Amino acid sequence: MDNTFVFYCILFILIAEFILATVMNFLNAKRFKDPIPEDLNDVYNTEEYEKSQAYKLTNYKFGVFTSIFSLVLILFFLLFGGFAWVDNVAQNISDNIIIQALVFFGIIMIGSDILNIPFTYYQTFVIEEKFGFNKTTKATFFIDKLKQWAMTIIFGGAILSLIIWFFQWAGTNFWLYTWAFVAIFTLFMNLFYSKLIVPLFNKQEPLEAGSLKEKIENYAAQVGFDLQNIFVINGSKRSTKANAYFSGFGKEKRVTLYDTLIKDLEEEEIVAVLAHEIGHYKKKHIVFNLATSIVLAGVMLFILSLFINNPEISLAIGVDRPSFHAALIGFGILYSPISEVTGLLMNHFSRKFEYQADDYAKNTYAALPLVTSLKKLSKNSLSNLTPHPAYVFMHYSHPPLIDRIRNLKA
Ligand SMILES: [Zn+2]
Repeated sequence: MDNTFVFYCILFILIAEFILATVMNFLNAKRFKDPIPEDLNDVYNTEEYEKSQAYKLTNYKFGVFTSIFSLVLILFFLLFGGFAWVDNVAQNISDNIIIQALVFFGIIMIGSDILNIPFTYYQTFVIEEKFGFNKTTKATFFIDKLKQWAMTIIFGGAILSLIIWFFQWAGTNFWLYTWAFVAIFTLFMNLFYSKLIVPLFNKQEPLEAGSLKEKIENYAAQVGFDLQNIFVINGSKRSTKANAYFSGFGKEKRVTLYDTLIKDLEEEEIVAVLAHEIGHYKKKHIVFNLATSIVLAGVMLFILSLFINNPEISLAIGVDRPSFHAALIGFGILYSPISEVTGLLMNHFSRKFEYQADDYAKNTYAALPLVTSLKKLSKNSLSNLTPHPAYVFMHYSHPPLIDRIRNLKA
């Protein structure tokens, strides 16, 4: 294996992934105008339907543009010595390899994020604004960015330093120590994300007293779920789109409902959505997802340990000398086809779990309010009612609306 060969592998992977994604988006876009399944005829009226068509098309075109930009950017970087230039900056700052790695990744990650700001800005303040979704102020947008960078620097910096320290200390066995650390960190984040990170961006409050709380109280008591673990978050600070999710386990488990969800849905529909979320917990989906992501991280770290000492992996991205941080970039790209495949598997399980959580809501509460809530949520986010099956297979973590409704009505 020489570094030119690895370099061509990297180019091949980047271009092949771009072509695959573009073909998928194209196939999906060709179905935008398909007739709507009969069960979904009442989701949109004509005017809303036309609006949803325009929204899909706008996002499709924007997606094509941004993916071309990303591909051109990374190819430009690879072909014209961008990584070598950043590596030289890092070497001139310090002789310490941990500091070099921090500078290297800091420049690349924050740099690419800055280059992406015009796109996320356009998405938020032009596209989402035009279709009436945006509630984010410009101040919130930029303060969010600063907070995200602070978190990347703190958590990303600490994790990267630790991995390199393990590597210096344990050689290729670093993967085992890193894995143990990643496992603990993943567990910790799953448990405390809602308590530690979410408050940096949003307000969370317990349910307000009233008829909704009573309805939820009745349901929660019936299935044995503690009402203390149900929170309402001010999603309306950023967008009109509604959501609900389950996180944590044991004492730290909680269901988070967006205030937009509570505003958009009738009380029975909210209880049905809550029942679906509790279904994820009762069916142990949270634990499965956690365990799987820890196993997948272990597999990836083990494979990384087999290649980390091959100088070709570093040199292939155009740097002048092999290093741990350059090898991480090369490995990251070479590994991406495998993570595409594991992503497909995770999406497959996720879609199965959605049916199971829907069934749980159907069996412990009722199917009809979940059907109507899913229709309202789809309408309010202008979602695509006719996705291409191949696109669903690749990208959807939830089954298409029509399949969920057929399952709920069965
Ligand atoms: Zn779900």
